[in-house]
Amino acid sequence: MDSRNHENELTRAREVMVRLQIQGRDVRDERVLQAMRSVPRHRFVPPPLLEEAYEDHPIPIGYGQTISQPYIVAYMAEMLKLRGYERVLEVGSGSGYMAAMLSLLVKDVYAIELEAGLCTRAEELLTELGYDNVHLRCGDGALGWPEKAPFDAIVLSCSAVDVPPALLEQLIMGGRMVLPLGPHGWSQRLIRLTHCDDGFDMENDLPVAFVPLR
Ligand code: SAH
Repeated sequence: MDSRNHENELTRAREVMVRLQIQGRDVRDERVLQAMRSVPRHRFVPPPLLEEAYEDHPIPIGYGQTISQPYIVAYMAEMLKLRGYERVLEVGSGSGYMAAMLSLLVKDVYAIELEAGLCTRAEELLTELGYDNVHLRCGDGALGWPEKAPFDAIVLSCSAVDVPPALLEQLIMGGRMVLPLGPHGWSQRLIRLTHCDDGFDMENDLPVAFVPLR
């Protein structure tokens, strides 16, 4: 197959992914659906796994880490309730896929990744693909990014047993934080914390299984 046909086939696979896995479940935010149709997920997976890029599961990206299942990425983005003006922090940006997706929904994405090898790879790819409003840093995301705080929304792409206190401090009043909370394995839940007058309102959502925050 020549490369143009292959690109077209991948684009079709991406549209089918959005229709069946994301819209077909329960994601309704039209901006999220459009961003999921736009980002070439196949560029963010290791080349030998390219043909699996639009399948309904997470994919290994090296260093013992994974790019999350497409539905979960979309679902978390919808939970953040983004309108377009926000500055968002992502902890655990891995391949850079979710950061790229979020960058289409907000003003700026600040992304932190602990693993230097993943960070370098994501930085190069995000630059190549022109996602200029993603700002990536290598380091411990549990500490947040104090110089760039506060954030309108924060998302963790790795699970925490307790919510990192530094992240709570870096969320504006009214801001949302979405994270997988709980020990390693399927007893984790996706949580949304909303910063309100008397503290943080917590909503409990889907059971999930994420790689842990280290
Ligand atoms: N959203 C990513 C998912 C990557 S998996 C994507 O779209 O590809 C979660 C990532 O969290 C891993 O890459 C892991 O290295 C990273 N991680 C784990 N602990 C971390 C920490 N303390 N600070 C920053 N990143 C961390």
